[in-house]
Amino acid sequence: MIISSISERIATIRASLPTSVRLIAVTKTVPTELMRYAYAAGIRDFAESRIQETASKQAELQDLSDVTWHLIGHLQSNKAKKALELFQWIHSVDNLQLAQRLNQLASQLGVNPQVCLQVKILPDANKSGWSVPELLADLSDLNQCKNLQIQGLMTIPPAGLHDAEIINVFNRTNELAKEIQSQNWSHIKMQHLSMGMSGDYVLAVQAGATMVRLGTILFGQRS
Ligand SMILES: *Cc1c(COP(=O)(O)O)cnc(C)c1O
Repeated sequence: MIISSISERIATIRASLPTSVRLIAVTKTVPTELMRYAYAAGIRDFAESRIQETASKQAELQDLSDVTWHLIGHLQSNKAKKALELFQWIHSVDNLQLAQRLNQLASQLGVNPQVCLQVKILPDANKSGWSVPELLADLSDLNQCKNLQIQGLMTIPPAGLHDAEIINVFNRTNELAKEIQSQNWSHIKMQHLSMGMSGDYVLAVQAGATMVRLGTILFGQRS
């Protein structure tokens, strides 16, 4: 990918998004040289899915001190502590045990990470996350995770859906967030919807996404 085209793509997409939507650059497998061009083009949010890759990139990008790092990949419990050291946002909190583990570790580390709860609106054997009934059943336990700042929901539609079905998934995620919000939990906020990737972010924004996670459309195909 030609460098000037990275900044052009960022500028074009940024201009097409409502100003309230946070553009998160998904930089898994993207070399740090290219991440610096994204930074120069105004990106301040990087998303990664692997702990080790993130640790080495953060070491190389130490001088970019105003970057926010987002974890978007499935997190194994044994890497939870490392994740809290590396990331300010965790979009992929996908079960109660992980939330409780993160909560306990956050207390020990003295951090208060922002998190999204990953939900599956449709069954999807290839992804982790709560089903809607499971999530509703776990809310009172999640509300006890007071060291986490639960900010909203994250979703990824199953592969292979038509646009109308994708829109439906995003709209239902938005409605679920409103339903949870209306229950007035003391420690669960539903101000954010992390939804939309390169292929479907336009639909996600129409459905109320507040954060889009874009990789391919900014940096080209991952190798
Ligand atoms: C890789 C990934 C993205 C970015 O996908 P693109 O199609 O390259 O934009 C977004 N969200 C998650 C959870 C991912 O794993």
